Amino acid sequence: MRILMIIMSLAALTGCVHAQTAHDNFAIENIGDGIYVHHGVHLDIDEGYQGDICNASFIVGSKGVAVVDTGGSLKVGKQLREAIRKVTPLPVLYVINTHVHPDHIYGNAAFLADNPAFIGHDKLATAMELRREQYAKLNARLLGEDAKGSELVKPTRSVKTTQELDLGDRKLMLTAHPVAHTNTDVSVMESKASTLFAGDLLFIERTPVLEGDIKGLIAEIEKLKSSPAKQVVPGHGPVTKNWVEALNNAQHYLNVLLADVRASIKKGESMESAMSSAAASERDKWKLFDIANRRNVNTIYPALEWE
Ligand SMILES: [Zn+2]
Repeated sequence: MRILMIIMSLAALTGCVHAQTAHDNFAIENIGDGIYVHHGVHLDIDEGYQGDICNASFIVGSKGVAVVDTGGSLKVGKQLREAIRKVTPLPVLYVINTHVHPDHIYGNAAFLADNPAFIGHDKLATAMELRREQYAKLNARLLGEDAKGSELVKPTRSVKTTQELDLGDRKLMLTAHPVAHTNTDVSVMESKASTLFAGDLLFIERTPVLEGDIKGLIAEIEKLKSSPAKQVVPGHGPVTKNWVEALNNAQHYLNVLLADVRASIKKGESMESAMSSAAASERDKWKLFDIANRRNVNTIYPALEWE
């Protein structure tokens, strides 16, 4: 049975900031066996972004806690840390980032005092450094006050192929993927409840996006289908036991997008025209489709022109 624990902020409890009440709720879903997931809301980074749009999870083992993604600001990271403290006094041993995107990493700063191992893909530290300025500007523009203190915290430990972490009563197997959603994708397989944290290799409800390589992403999704997982936590969207279906849905969208963009290029259609026509048959199946799909075409069209 899933229990929804609502953690209200002081402002929400006293009722003095009515307009912010909804945003000040920090809901944590208990998916069983010491695993908890906070679901961000489906907002695009260019439309209403407030730093809290992805899934941020934690796993409580007998020796300590592992965090998988920390949200997009120090504020979200602090809320996540408070949620952990309400569940367990055990130390936070590991903070894992599934990839470089800003909505997944800027809560890291909230865990600095815990002195955990910050863990990411072998290429994550470089990718973070290359984006430091761009993301700082983006945060300042979109997060306002919440951008303050949301400092970039890079990995102290990296995963080149696979790496096992021991939480006492369970193990976590981290896998560094080839270029797919980004060039810094890491997934996490938890052994006790057989839970796979797929990061942004899997989107549910929200339109999948990519900046890495569409063929690589389709291939990594295919590989994930042979996972021993009983349930999957995607990078965005609900936790699911029907995860093969979810992977198939995401893969189908990407296959349609790839085929349509290739067909547009073959017919000599411009990228602008492909942006409004590609993968149109998938439009009603996904949230934030127009903005995400246009961005995807913009990413893959130039690369596919050279095929
Ligand atoms: Zn992402």
